[in-house]
Amino acid sequence: MILQDWWFTTLLGIKEPIREPVRGQIKTDVLIVGAGAAGLAAALRLVGSGKKVVLIDKNICGGSSTGKSAGFLTPDSELELSQLLRKYGTKGAKDLWGVASKGVEIMVDNIKKHQIECDLQVQDCLFLGKGASGWKDVQDEVESREKLGYSSKVYRESEVPSVIGSNAYSGAIRYTGTYGVNALLYAQGIKQVLLDNGIEIYESSEVLSWEGHTVRTHLGSVTADKIIFCIDKPKPEITKYHESVYHAQTFLSISEPLGDDDIAKLFPQGPLQCWDSDLVYTYFRLTGTKRLLVGGGNMLTTYAKNDTTAPRVIDHVINELKEKIPVIRPLRFIQYWQGRIDMTRDLIPTVLVDPEHPWTHFVLGCVGLPWATFCGDFAARNVLDDKELDSEKFYRYFSPTRKFFLPLWLEHILGKKIVFTVNNAWAKYRQKDPKAAESL
Ligand SMILES: Cc1cc2nc3c(=O)[nH]c(=O)nc-3n(C[C@H](O)[C@H](O)[C@H](O)COP(=O)(O)OP(=O)(O)OC[C@H]3O[C@@H](n4cnc5c(N)ncnc54)[C@H](O)[C@@H]3O)c2cc1C
Repeated sequence: MILQDWWFTTLLGIKEPIREPVRGQIKTDVLIVGAGAAGLAAALRLVGSGKKVVLIDKNICGGSSTGKSAGFLTPDSELELSQLLRKYGTKGAKDLWGVASKGVEIMVDNIKKHQIECDLQVQDCLFLGKGASGWKDVQDEVESREKLGYSSKVYRESEVPSVIGSNAYSGAIRYTGTYGVNALLYAQGIKQVLLDNGIEIYESSEVLSWEGHTVRTHLGSVTADKIIFCIDKPKPEITKYHESVYHAQTFLSISEPLGDDDIAKLFPQGPLQCWDSDLVYTYFRLTGTKRLLVGGGNMLTTYAKNDTTAPRVIDHVINELKEKIPVIRPLRFIQYWQGRIDMTRDLIPTVLVDPEHPWTHFVLGCVGLPWATFCGDFAARNVLDDKELDSEKFYRYFSPTRKFFLPLWLEHILGKKIVFTVNNAWAKYRQKDPKAAESL
């Protein structure tokens, strides 16, 4: 097994994946910095607006988290529906589940409208309970979905083998409206749509500094009336809001193709995208080329400050999964990679208009492709002054000044990693916003 991002392997057929860097001085109406799911969604929203738009990235479009992701397109993210419900009450949970659902919808509509070849797979979600606590988690999801009027199907322990080739799970919940995608090919496809529609794209162009309306890269600068930063791993020299973001590390691996008989044993009712109820969960799905994509990690590496590149973490995840699912035991995995997902303390993105530079938006800490897509689109709609948008509501959810369990000053004493981890856990398992109870 070698350390290589499989999605980059799938780019081998693309002749010119990299655009020229910014050179000299460029002037534009709107500049978008960062071409992941968020920046691409922002740029796409501005197509046809009559504005000159420039999109720049330090790598290639989709080259960071977006192009490393497992491509599960689902409203479920690090916060499950039951957790959103506890935290925000019925109305808030609906609003925020609606954010992620809208993100899924935008991406799938884009793929269909522009006929982007990115291995779009219609795949129901299957959330698998492990042990008694996992079965309770499944029931919590079922109840939450019922409460909010979303349909689902529940499987008791004895029924799980009818959908997945395993006796090791204590129950499961399945729901529809979810997809699998090669997110790097998606990003490259959107890039082509943007180029075809007159958006200027520069790659290999890291923003090194920013002053007023001008950002500088190693070879040039861009001056814009409006700027939308959709960057990951933000640095202090770019924004003081870098403090909003830390990260969680996760690992992925891709197998050789499975035979049709084995696929039928693995997914008796057809391919699903699955994850289990562990805190650091294992997730897996089948790609269109019949390869099994498996992801996961462990507690030590999830919040590690730096990248962990040794194969042992994902090896362990794969071996544990093989214990549970006999048909995949002989399967060989050929490539593995890891990535750090930017996230905020409460796992909800931070989106803001910078009060000191009101022509500037920041979209930070989006956990999940759909969230990033919604937030990039949202920021661009604000630049267009879209009156139909309920901006105030979303700026409130995404505000950088929202409250967390442990105050930020503690990070200077205990360190960011510890305080961030506690705040993450609090958001997931305990936190209730004051207004949540009213709307339950
Ligand atoms: C291993 C892994 C698996 C995942 N699996 C899933 C999944 O299955 N489903 C899901 O929904 N989500 C998944 N995610 C999370 C998802 O990928 C991210 O939440 C999402 O891609 C965030 O999109 P983004 O546009 O905000 O950030 P990014 O995709 O990180 O884009 C930010 C861009 O900004 C650029 N940039 C940063 N700084 C600068 C600068 N100074 N100048 C210029 N450019 C800059 C970067 O190069 C990058 O392209 C996964 C993430 C990882 C790492």
